[in-house]
Amino acid sequence: MLTDTAATRAGGILTIDLPAIQANYRRLRQELGDVPCAAVLKADGYGLGDTVVGPALRKAGARTFFVALPDEGIRLRRALPDVPIFILGGLFKGAEEEYLHNDLLPVLNSLEEVERWAALARQKGNRLGAAIQTDSGMSRLGMPDSEILALHENQEILSSIELRLIMSHLACADEPAHLQNREQLQSFQRARRLFPEVPASLANSSGIFLGKDYHFELGRPGAALYGVNPTPAQASPMRPVVRLQAKVLQVRSIDAGRSVGYGAAFRAKTKSRIATLALGYADGFLRHLSDRGFAWYQGIRLPLAGRVSMDVAGLDITALPEGSLQPGDLVDILGPDQGVDELAAQAGTIGYEILTSLGRRYHRIYRSV
Ligand SMILES: *Cc1c(COP(=O)(O)O)cnc(C)c1O
Repeated sequence: MLTDTAATRAGGILTIDLPAIQANYRRLRQELGDVPCAAVLKADGYGLGDTVVGPALRKAGARTFFVALPDEGIRLRRALPDVPIFILGGLFKGAEEEYLHNDLLPVLNSLEEVERWAALARQKGNRLGAAIQTDSGMSRLGMPDSEILALHENQEILSSIELRLIMSHLACADEPAHLQNREQLQSFQRARRLFPEVPASLANSSGIFLGKDYHFELGRPGAALYGVNPTPAQASPMRPVVRLQAKVLQVRSIDAGRSVGYGAAFRAKTKSRIATLALGYADGFLRHLSDRGFAWYQGIRLPLAGRVSMDVAGLDITALPEGSLQPGDLVDILGPDQGVDELAAQAGTIGYEILTSLGRRYHRIYRSV
C-alpha cells in the first residue's frame, strides 16, 4: 500500500536507482581500462532527469559530459558548475554568446561552424575551446574528410581554437561483426593522425565493448549507464536502473465475446478478468504495445488486453487467483521480471526509446543508497 501522498495521486510510480547508474559507470570504466569515461546526458539524461543523474555520475568519477542541445547544456551547467559540457548538436546559429556565457563547448560539425567559433574567438581576443567531429561513415553529423583536411591546413583558424577533442560516432557498434565498424575506425584513425596531440573519442556504449582499438582517449556512453544492454547478442553486462509500476484503477469480469478498449480490438475468448491500469500513451506507454505488451504481478506475466489509450490500458488478469489484485495495487511494467530491452522488444523499438518516452506524470522516486 502507498503511503507517500504524492504517490497516491499518481497513475504510475517510476523508481530510478542512482547507485545502479553509478555501478554501470564503474562497469564501463572497467571495460575501458585506463581510458577515462565521459557520460552522455542528452534528452534529459535519457528521460531519467539530467540534473539528478549528472551529479550522481560526477560522484562516480565522470569528468566530461555531453548533451545534444545548448538548452540542455545551460540546464546541466547549473547542476554541474565545474565540468566540461560538450554540445553534440554543434554551434547553434545566434546562440554563440550563450555557449560562452554558460561555458559550453560546441562539437563543431562543419567548417562553417569552426569559422564562426574562430571569428567569435578573435572578437573576444581569446582562444575558445571546442571539439571537432569527423563524419567517419554515418552521414549524420560531422566534417567529411575534405573539410578535415582543409581545417588541418588552415593555421589561422586553428590558432583561434583550443581543440579539446576530436570525435566521431559509430553507426553499427551494437553489431560487432558489422564491417562498417572497421571502416569507420580506419576513417577516424586517418582523421585523427592529422591532429595527433588532440584527445580522441569514438566509442558510445556498444563501441566500448568492441575492444581497445575503439577506445582512444575517452569513452562516451549514454544508454548503458541507464541499463540498456550494449551487447544485444549477449546477456546484458549492465544493471537495471528503472522500475515502473502502474496502478490498478478498476477490476472487472467480462463474459466471452465482450470487447475491451477502443476499436473493440480485443475480444475475450472465455470469461475473463480485466484490470484497468492508470497509464497510457500520454505517459510514453507506447500505443504499439496494444495487445502485445506484458505487465507482471508477483512473478506472473499478464498480457495487455485491447488498445492502449491516452491515460489507461487494459490488462488480462485471468491468470491470477480471483481477488488477488485490487484497485490501488501496483503491477510492474519495468522491473525485476521485465527490463527496458524486453519492453522495447514487445513494442517493436529499442530501450533508448522506452527510456526517453517515460512520461512526466509518473511519481518519481530517486533511490540514492
Ligand atoms: C547519443 C550519443 C552517444 C551515446 O550513445 P549511446 O549509444 O547511448 O551510448 C555518444 N556519442 C554521440 C555523438 C551520440 O549522439
